[in-house]
Amino acid sequence: MRSEAAGREEHGREAAEAGRPVDRPEIPAPVAELLATLRGGGHSAYVVGGCLRDAVLGREPADWDLTTDAQPDRIQRLFPGSLYENRFGTVVVRRGDSQYEITAFRRDVSYTDHRHPDSVEFGNSIEEDLARRDFTVNAMAWGGKPAEEASFVDPHGGAADLDRRLIRAVGDPDRRFHEDALRMVRAVRLAATLGFEVEAGTLEAVGRNAALARHLSGERKATELTKLLAAARPSVGLRLMAESGLLAVIAPDLARQIGIPQNKLDGEDLWDHTLRTVDAAPNRSLVRMAALLHDIGKPDTLADGHFHGHETVGAEMVRRFLADLHSPRVQQERVAHLVGNHMFSYQPNWSDAAVRRFIRKIGPGSVDDLLALRAADNQGSGLAPEAGLLPELADRVRRELVANAVLGREQLAIDGDDLKSELGIPPGRALGRVLDILTERVIAEPALNDRAILLELARGEIASGPAGAESPRRTHEAG
Ligand code: ATP
Ligand code: MG
Repeated sequence: MRSEAAGREEHGREAAEAGRPVDRPEIPAPVAELLATLRGGGHSAYVVGGCLRDAVLGREPADWDLTTDAQPDRIQRLFPGSLYENRFGTVVVRRGDSQYEITAFRRDVSYTDHRHPDSVEFGNSIEEDLARRDFTVNAMAWGGKPAEEASFVDPHGGAADLDRRLIRAVGDPDRRFHEDALRMVRAVRLAATLGFEVEAGTLEAVGRNAALARHLSGERKATELTKLLAAARPSVGLRLMAESGLLAVIAPDLARQIGIPQNKLDGEDLWDHTLRTVDAAPNRSLVRMAALLHDIGKPDTLADGHFHGHETVGAEMVRRFLADLHSPRVQQERVAHLVGNHMFSYQPNWSDAAVRRFIRKIGPGSVDDLLALRAADNQGSGLAPEAGLLPELADRVRRELVANAVLGREQLAIDGDDLKSELGIPPGRALGRVLDILTERVIAEPALNDRAILLELARGEIASGPAGAESPRRTHEAG
């Protein structure tokens, strides 16, 4: 059976291909039920914002939002079990595994910090609610007053802009970007996500107001950047950011890549290389972020036409960049790790042990991402994704992982307790050193991973270990 989502996409696509507006959006059953309950309860109610835009375009909406003249306490009474835990008038209703936001009509008043309204007021009409929204394509509603038949409400010409594939500010763009500077980032992000252009007047206003983006919180920038990187071609939005001056405010170290020469593709600079690499990277957020940042260390390390050590300098810059965006610590570390290790150079004469050491250094959970990053980097340089024998390396890595090769102490056939009870080595540095040596031996020769053999090797190691405090046996004998 065809999925509901596929049906919706087809409906939108057919209408779009026929060049006519969608007469009614395809709304999933739970959303239709919420609308009917609100209207049956004597309220105006509408599907509104990005979800309606996506439904009309035939894209699967990320989330469905409703707006109504009912106040939050009334919404809660209409939907027993719903949650109201904010001060913005948004009540959350669960249906199955999904949740839906129902927000009382709002009107935003006086912004002084370029990022949020000083207060939120409930509005009186759908028109007021639509006027506070950012772009015309995001400022349409579908629904109506209780007794009316449902219809589109589109006072800002959103449907026409959807047809023309344009992101256009609602009202005066300079004023709207002054109110909330995030809207500039959203404009370029939506252009990339939807494959639209930013309308000329709106784009010029981004250029005039880009400096206001310095007021934005890391979290809000991160949300939009992550959505931008998930677009089919993030370069569409990233180029707009660069050309409008937003990039220099939000990611100054990336903006410095513009104009730095690269001996890769004719007439292309380092920034062009970064953009090609991001577009070529598989659509996984860590890999896309690593692709965006992989050469962030190059401008600082450029000397005599080389970028010596740029990956190490870059890894540190990645940590700072992602910390400023308040990205979770693990994400900072994982992206920095990929960037710091992206310059490996595989040779077919690597022994199996060398392949195992490579996996241990990169971490079994990151090898796939690193190889994907490198394949994208190849494409960004105008090479085939397979350049540098990446598929051969990937294949050898896979074989080691399937064979469950020992890559660390935890997989040894003995542990510290065995060394203590069998050989009398007290816990401490010396014991750790013996375990490390045994691990190296097993990585080089997996057949050695046997309890009796390892204990024998450990004994030999202690007997021949370096003199001094490092070796417990010698320390003991000397004492
Ligand atoms: P996505 O498909 O990524 O969810 P979206 O446009 O739906 O994109 P949301 O953050 O879900 O983005 O916002 C939902 C709606 O709220 C928008 O479509 C828009 O109408 C309104 N909105 C969101 N952010 C702003 C803003 N900064 N200023 C004005 N209106 C906004
Ligand atoms: Mg949304």
